[in-house]
Amino acid sequence: MTTHDVINPATEETVRTIDLVGVEETDEAVARAVEVGPQWRAMAPADRGRLLRRFSDVVDDHLEELARLEVQNAGHTIGNARWEAGNVRDVLAYYSAAPERLLGQQIPVAGGINVTFKEPLGVVSVIVPWNFPMPIAGWGFAPALAAGNTVVLKPAELTPLTAMRLAELALDAGVPEGVFTVLPGKGSVVGERFVTHPDVRKVCFTGSTAVGQGIMRGAADQLKRVTLELGGKSANIVFADADLEAAAAAAPMSFLDNAGQDCCARTRILVQREVFNDFMGRFESAMRDVRVGDPGDDATQMGPLVSDRQRETVRGFVEGSEEPVDVAFRGTAPEGAGWWYPPTVVLPRSTSDRVWQDEVFGPVVGVMPFDDEADAIAKANDTAYGLSGSIWTRDVGRAIRVSRGVEAGNLSVNSHSSVRYSTPFGGFKSSGIGRELGPDALDAFTEVKNVFISTEP
Ligand code: NAD
Repeated sequence: MTTHDVINPATEETVRTIDLVGVEETDEAVARAVEVGPQWRAMAPADRGRLLRRFSDVVDDHLEELARLEVQNAGHTIGNARWEAGNVRDVLAYYSAAPERLLGQQIPVAGGINVTFKEPLGVVSVIVPWNFPMPIAGWGFAPALAAGNTVVLKPAELTPLTAMRLAELALDAGVPEGVFTVLPGKGSVVGERFVTHPDVRKVCFTGSTAVGQGIMRGAADQLKRVTLELGGKSANIVFADADLEAAAAAAPMSFLDNAGQDCCARTRILVQREVFNDFMGRFESAMRDVRVGDPGDDATQMGPLVSDRQRETVRGFVEGSEEPVDVAFRGTAPEGAGWWYPPTVVLPRSTSDRVWQDEVFGPVVGVMPFDDEADAIAKANDTAYGLSGSIWTRDVGRAIRVSRGVEAGNLSVNSHSSVRYSTPFGGFKSSGIGRELGPDALDAFTEVKNVFISTEP
């Protein structure tokens, strides 16, 4: 059996060696998920809801354990990791109300009654990236299970530990065996088998745009349903009429959260020309306050990158770039063991620069001036991506006009928030297809069935 050493990104020490699942075990797990499907689907809605609520409670009971595991496995700060485990708990609690609210419609027709049902798809697969192992898993499995599907889930190779623990906690909560199975393995093995297996009816994928495109191509053979949550290059637009101090104070963590390994990171800051220098001065002083270091320490705001490879990728955008890259200023990072990279602010020379166009997925941000509202929208939209973005202004009309003008799925005004479990999340353009979370997520895990019942004598 192939194994994988899970490494602590802050210390480079081996945390655990795990066995990787192959095609045969994947097929066995899918077969079990098919077998238990009818029982899970036929369970009374209130009972299915109760089991999900119990699962949520068990996650809450193990919140600190899950959070500490994520600090070790992914190098997330303990504050973030607690939020992430809490997010799994909350998403489960939110969707535990769904089985009893999976409403269809009664549509007026001649000669009878017409009703619609939301039927589960069957076996749903979830493929998770390494950057947010717990929340992204929960956004897939919680609504999928609530809608009556059974789930097979593959965590990223680098970060399998919390998903594996969540599968154990599901069993502890009473979720029947085979209903939710976690399969640690390679994308090219387990992930691809989800795409080709005829009994897997959907692939819910979060990860890079290139792999997402391959999954969509593969899914076409069976007309398999897909939800794709992919990369991002989100803009943070600061107008001259904004509360500049608040905008500058919030800017560092808008791209440094999770060491920049966040698909919603605001990695392109656009500042109106007349306040550019003023903003940069305040931004630089806010950057000095960011604490980079031991992720297990409560006061730490940024930890290491997930792997040596990821650090080299990030470095390649700055030190290793063939294009000249002008660094405006940098923060600090620990030296010695661990995959550290300092917070870095660059001034791209052109909107076509690689560091301005491509997703870095590390603590690197570009800053560029703009002239007016139209220029801000044009520059914000000059990207293949369209996931998130922020608008800083005191003018309500402008906030709404620019929000409507920016081609992205999740925008915030005078704030950098992107994710709430009760509101929809997903991308425009190359950032993906479909939406997760919020009241409509169940639609992504159900098919509408229309039934006409004749009342003719
Ligand atoms: P990745 O695409 O390399 O891997 C993601 C997952 O897909 C992993 O579990 C991997 O094993 C699996 N995989 C790889 N090749 C596969 C294949 N051929 N078939 C099936 N599965 C395969 O991405 P990553 O490096 O783990 O994650 C970082 C990327 O994820 C970034 O681009 C980031 O923007 C994106 N992301 C997007 C969102 C979002 O919601 N839009 C959220 C988090 C991360």
